[in-house]
Amino acid sequence: MKIDEGIVMLEVAGTVPGMFIYPTVMWDSENMVLVDVGYGGQLDALKYAFNKEGIEFNKINKVIITHQDLDHFGGLADMIEASHHPIEVLAHEEDKPYLQGDKPLVRLNANFLNSLPEDRREMIKKMAENFKKVEVNTTLVDDQKLDYAGGITVIHTPGHTPGHICMYHHPSKTLIVGDAMNITDGKLQGPRKDILSKEDYTLALKSLEKLQKFDAKNIITYHGGLYRNIKHQTIDSLIKD
Ligand SMILES: [Zn+2]
Repeated sequence: MKIDEGIVMLEVAGTVPGMFIYPTVMWDSENMVLVDVGYGGQLDALKYAFNKEGIEFNKINKVIITHQDLDHFGGLADMIEASHHPIEVLAHEEDKPYLQGDKPLVRLNANFLNSLPEDRREMIKKMAENFKKVEVNTTLVDDQKLDYAGGITVIHTPGHTPGHICMYHHPSKTLIVGDAMNITDGKLQGPRKDILSKEDYTLALKSLEKLQKFDAKNIITYHGGLYRNIKHQTIDSLIKD
């Protein structure tokens, strides 16, 4: 879905039928930036989503990963391998060691795995054992300004993972929030409580405060898609919930 000039929200078929993920693409004359890529094995679905939007998959030269969960970066190694030109990988410094395989992924603990339905648990376990690590070329920090695609601000929003980031795309006034927010039944939600420890959930809520200063018109959540009905109190009410 076209959000504005130079920014598209993709709808990519998920690994569970009927479920979708929503990576974002932003570009200028020299750069095409993809935010999150999906699981390993979702590459064809990702390419299909590019085609559907009429944008060229082969033009991607930068990938920003919002955080270390496999549904966000699992397919990146294959994507880089298949590309005919270099792809720069950008991620926050706190999640970099996980993406590079230097630390075990935070989500792959017994608590989380046991919360999944059995068939899904096996699938995720298998993926976790075989995931392909990636090299992070550019380390991001909080409040960093990226001067491509019209200007992007990086916002460090720890909680869901230590190095989770959101982004603000200035020209279109769009917040790309990864898993910091969700949408259920058309309603904007805060971070997922059921998969986080109490401390991490509190931290994730606190992180939302950083998003309030942006005059956002659009919010793209990775699992729920686009939210446009933003009012002054929208993010405020999520924090107070
Ligand atoms: Zn996710």
